[in-house]
Amino acid sequence: VEFRFTPEQQAFGAQARDFFAEHVTEDLLAGLERDQEEHSASFHERLAAKGWIGLQWPEERGGAGLTDIEAAMLMEAAGYYGAPMTGYLVAVIGGSTILTVGSEEQISRWLPGIARGEVIVALGYSEPEAGSDLASLGTRAIPTPDGWVLRGTKIFTSLAHHAGVALVAARTDPEARKHRGLTVFVVPMDRAGIGVAPIHTLGGFRTNTMSLDDVAVRPGDVLGEVGEGWATLGAALDLERTGASRLGLCRKLLDTIERELGPGGLTGAHEHMLWEFERRLAATRLLSYRAAWIVTQGKLPTAEAAMAKVASTELAQDIASAAISAVGSRALVGRDGGGPDGGLLERSYRNAARFTITAGTSEIQRTIIALAHLKLPRSA
Ligand SMILES: Cc1cc2nc3c(=O)[nH]c(=O)nc-3n(C[C@H](O)[C@H](O)[C@H](O)COP(=O)(O)OP(=O)(O)OC[C@H]3O[C@@H](n4cnc5c(N)ncnc54)[C@H](O)[C@@H]3O)c2cc1C
Repeated sequence: VEFRFTPEQQAFGAQARDFFAEHVTEDLLAGLERDQEEHSASFHERLAAKGWIGLQWPEERGGAGLTDIEAAMLMEAAGYYGAPMTGYLVAVIGGSTILTVGSEEQISRWLPGIARGEVIVALGYSEPEAGSDLASLGTRAIPTPDGWVLRGTKIFTSLAHHAGVALVAARTDPEARKHRGLTVFVVPMDRAGIGVAPIHTLGGFRTNTMSLDDVAVRPGDVLGEVGEGWATLGAALDLERTGASRLGLCRKLLDTIERELGPGGLTGAHEHMLWEFERRLAATRLLSYRAAWIVTQGKLPTAEAAMAKVASTELAQDIASAAISAVGSRALVGRDGGGPDGGLLERSYRNAARFTITAGTSEIQRTIIALAHLKLPRSA
């Protein structure tokens, strides 16, 4: 067992930290908060210019030919500096899905623009009545002489208001069993019938509903096989779950708490709290990089990514709430009021609420661990 990054990986990590230190400026962060955005087109393009969008894709596909270890290192560094990485995450999930199951025509049409940061991806999977139980989704793909029309409503479609393309999951066969009869379509966002409306979140950024009002799609828009959408949906979700960005955020929060308390303000109880969080962070870091390493071995880290997600999201929430009680009222002051680190503690407390929901809730991750790791039988 070798618990060390290679010299090349260490150099990559240093390069990533330098990049974020330079480009995640207070102006950028203040602008995002003011505009209630979690995406900056200019920052996303700078990330793309480094070749880091889809950095684990092959070079001939516009990637950097690196691995999920470097992708996790990138996210860890991004999390420390608070970089707006939602555009990156949906690009990697959407792009990797297209790369894994898409046709040659779809790959050459979409991947280069996504890798260059010019095309933003939206993932149109969740619906008002289908989140954890995604297989019960109700958006219909109704057959027409040329293909289908999509009819339904998606919810929490991150960055749909910036997107050039959406991956949309719909039911092509209403008679088939729940996990069957689903199909994923790759849909240009300028198709007639797509409507996008904002949902404003506790975290202070905007997500969306996306309505599909008889949006025409053709056989060439099918991603993977008709009726095999369930497999397509799962093709690239593990990366988001490895949780590396939360490692960086946890480190930053702990540094800020320690600095705010200062040597004079640290009681025995604070020290105990900080040691305990350090212990959990070290263990979580191993879980996250183990999941990323499994991907480099050509395997799916289903249970391991679920473990990393539960550990990293719950740790980030615990640290964010402990910061409020440890630092006191100053921690509740946001950016405009001059709160610590540009209002980091206040913002993280609000924003951490979503961590245990997005990309599969903690309850669902625990079910995945029970089924995939413990091999427990599925309850009725
Ligand atoms: C900020 C944000 C961004 C998002 N971005 C996207 C996006 O870009 N694209 C997209 O498609 N989706 C997106 N989502 C949706 C996200 O994937 C869902 O919110 C998530 O899967 C949970 O679904 P739900 O909200 O419908 O909650 P529900 O599934 O209704 O769950 C409600 C509660 O019940 C629990 N629960 C449900 N089923 C079970 C069960 N079987 N066993 C035990 N407990 C259970 C859940 O754990 C949860 O606590 C986003 C969500 C958020 C908050």
